[in-house]
Amino acid sequence: MKPAPFDYLVARSVREAVSALAERPSQARVLAGGQSLVLEMNYRRERPALLVDINHVPGLDGIEVEGGELRVGALARHRDFEEPVARDPLGRLLERVSRHIAHPPIRARGTMVGSLAYAHPAAEWPAVAVALDARLELAGPEGVRTVRAGEFFRGPFATARRPEEMITGVRLPLLGEGSGVGFVELRRTGASFALVAALAAITVEGGVITSSRVALAGAADRPLRVRGVEEALAGDPPSDETFAGAERRAALEADPVPEPHAGVEYRRHAAGVLVRRALERAAEDLEVNS
Ligand SMILES: Cc1cc2nc3c(=O)[nH]c(=O)nc-3n(C[C@H](O)[C@H](O)[C@H](O)COP(=O)(O)OP(=O)(O)OC[C@H]3O[C@@H](n4cnc5c(N)ncnc54)[C@H](O)[C@@H]3O)c2cc1C
Repeated sequence: MKPAPFDYLVARSVREAVSALAERPSQARVLAGGQSLVLEMNYRRERPALLVDINHVPGLDGIEVEGGELRVGALARHRDFEEPVARDPLGRLLERVSRHIAHPPIRARGTMVGSLAYAHPAAEWPAVAVALDARLELAGPEGVRTVRAGEFFRGPFATARRPEEMITGVRLPLLGEGSGVGFVELRRTGASFALVAALAAITVEGGVITSSRVALAGAADRPLRVRGVEEALAGDPPSDETFAGAERRAALEADPVPEPHAGVEYRRHAAGVLVRRALERAAEDLEVNS
């Protein structure tokens, strides 16, 4: 199918984009990489009266380390992370994650921030954002506000973004040397979203895990940070026994919603297994890089 008719505006600044959104808040949509929005429009699940194209707004494609954070602009593409963007272990994590998103043509256009805005429950970047407690910058007519990832995702395709707001960037904290990172996912085909994905970042001092960040995609109605797993890991050695415990806890914390390709119990089981594997990869990563 073809999209329903729409008006099209090429915004030249964030201010111009925001005022266009504010003029028709429930009818206007930001166009970033278009890799989800255009599909939704073709299926006519989305019928925006106005598309506000932000691809010509200067300065939105930056990826910079500022203080202890990596700031990613709204036009940074998935592909930009295929080589490490920071010397910190965060660079390795983003590299591993990016290579799992769809396939190369989609990675060349789609944006990290667009994926956060779209809020697919099985998408990889939202899981990274909740694991790291990322901060999203939202520009609206009244100025810029910051929202933590944990409060941003409200359910499938639902976020705390107001219709008149545009996300200008996201800030991810650096993990610090001495962290190991792991990412694994289960998917049916190279062009389908993950059934379940898991990521882990751990820090080990004196032979025990001192901090961890663990999250799942495809295991609830939104990206899920498994805090019970993180709490249980603290003070334990990065051993098979510890990670087997994490597997059991993650399966209990997961709350998958029914979907056509895999039952709830299968995805709950997969969530546990993938958390264990992500932790094993994080421990290996730490060994190789320390
Ligand atoms: C075949 C296929 C397979 C895919 N597989 C995966 C996958 O495995 N994992 C995955 O994560 N994704 C996957 N995707 C989706 C892809 O990652 C998209 O690029 C991403 O979801 C949206 O980014 P985008 O820049 O293309 O956003 P767009 O499609 O332009 O926009 C998506 C939505 O976000 C809004 N939006 C975008 N940017 C902003 C902003 N700055 N401020 C406010 N609102 C904004 C738009 O208005 C729209 O509602 C797949 C897509 C296809 C077609």
